[in-house]
Amino acid sequence: MKTDILIIGGGAAGMMCAVQSAWAGHEVIVLEHEKKPCQKLNITGKGRCNVTNNCDVRTVIANTPRGGKFLYSALSRFTPEDTMAFFESLGIELKTERGNRVFPVSDKAFDISGALINAAKEAGVRIVRDEARSLIIEGGAVRGVYGREGEYLAQRVVVACGGLSYPKTGSTGGGYKLARQAGHTVTECVGSLVPVEMYGSECREAMGLSLKNCGLTVRDNVSEKTVFSDMGEMLFTHFGMSGPLVLSASAHLHDIEKGRYTFTIDFKPALDEKKLGERILRDFSEIPNRDFDNSLGRLLPASIIPVIVKRSGISPAKKVNQITREERLRLIACIKGFTLEVRGLRPVEEAIITRGGVATDELSPKTLESKLVSGLHFIGEVIDADAYTGGFNLQIAWATAYAAATSFT
Ligand SMILES: Cc1cc2nc3c(=O)[nH]c(=O)nc-3n(C[C@H](O)[C@H](O)[C@H](O)COP(=O)(O)OP(=O)(O)OC[C@H]3O[C@@H](n4cnc5c(N)ncnc54)[C@H](O)[C@@H]3O)c2cc1C
Repeated sequence: MKTDILIIGGGAAGMMCAVQSAWAGHEVIVLEHEKKPCQKLNITGKGRCNVTNNCDVRTVIANTPRGGKFLYSALSRFTPEDTMAFFESLGIELKTERGNRVFPVSDKAFDISGALINAAKEAGVRIVRDEARSLIIEGGAVRGVYGREGEYLAQRVVVACGGLSYPKTGSTGGGYKLARQAGHTVTECVGSLVPVEMYGSECREAMGLSLKNCGLTVRDNVSEKTVFSDMGEMLFTHFGMSGPLVLSASAHLHDIEKGRYTFTIDFKPALDEKKLGERILRDFSEIPNRDFDNSLGRLLPASIIPVIVKRSGISPAKKVNQITREERLRLIACIKGFTLEVRGLRPVEEAIITRGGVATDELSPKTLESKLVSGLHFIGEVIDADAYTGGFNLQIAWATAYAAATSFT
């Protein structure tokens, strides 16, 4: 098969690039090895798709700890406002929620992927089910791709294969192989926005506990700095911790070694130590003859109580009217400053996003074209750039796709 533009990967970036290229008058083929395109897009935002963040470019970059500066050019030419205008032009109504997160009014990610796929088809894009196995490169320029089913010749090839996370959606790291074949450096790929493993058995003991409004502070004991502090939702699991707050925190953990990172959970962020002390005294005064291990039911979720009781060092059978001031202060410290030591991150397959990828200094920031092989572009998650949660990662996919597509002459 022969075409102007060959896009490898029909995910968020690939499909946006296909639509924009076809609208600019190019003949476009998308190679997608999964049965249907946009499988990952369909599970974004818990099936609701946090399509972008309603903020300015500076804020997107501030939320992109790796590759943000490189992305300035692309993000300036396709801003979150442009993303919203694009999807609205396809008939998708959008709404902005807490933290400027933008979702379709329908709360259905399928509406976003459906609109993209329809727009591509209407613009004449051919979506072909095949897997790109290797690039055809001659004289320093890309000529096409060898697929499982045959050869595809093109003037330009865009690698939009995504990363390594959630491989069942088709993101199996094929783009890195193609990049290496072209001579590109691929930086180490690990998970980001990923659940965190903890030492000890306490998380397992509280497994299944989901907390809505708790505080989390992460300290780097090597630099002696607080690297993350926020409030939100978290979940105790058999290996450690998950949930939105923990996924966000994970983006700040590097070169994890024993003793480096400490998570401190505040189970009662709305009460300071004094108020919590008063609250405990009040609760205890209503049940003076109750055993300590049976006294915290009004204050804490049931599954964390045995863990807190053990940590406090107070005898579980002690009557609450016999608990000393010193013991009460220890209990308060456990509830407001529950510490856990980080063992490591869960595997990249369980991550929301891949940290690492095609080295950005080998790509043009304006066109995402390779500096090593002409006519070859890399867009979306395959490049070494990743952001925090909030719609920023999809914004990177849209913006890099647009930058590449608008560079084709
Ligand atoms: C559970 C989850 C929730 C998320 N929620 C959000 C969210 O709400 N907001 C947000 O901004 N980001 C979110 N993300 C991140 C977001 O999904 C990614 O940033 C985005 O999908 C990256 O787009 P992409 O096109 O680069 O890669 P992908 O979407 O992964 O697409 C890559 C495509 O390439 C195909 N492919 C791979 N190799 C080959 C090959 N050799 N030949 C042919 N085809 C190939 C794959 O099948 C796939 O379809 C979420 C991620 C996950 C896992």
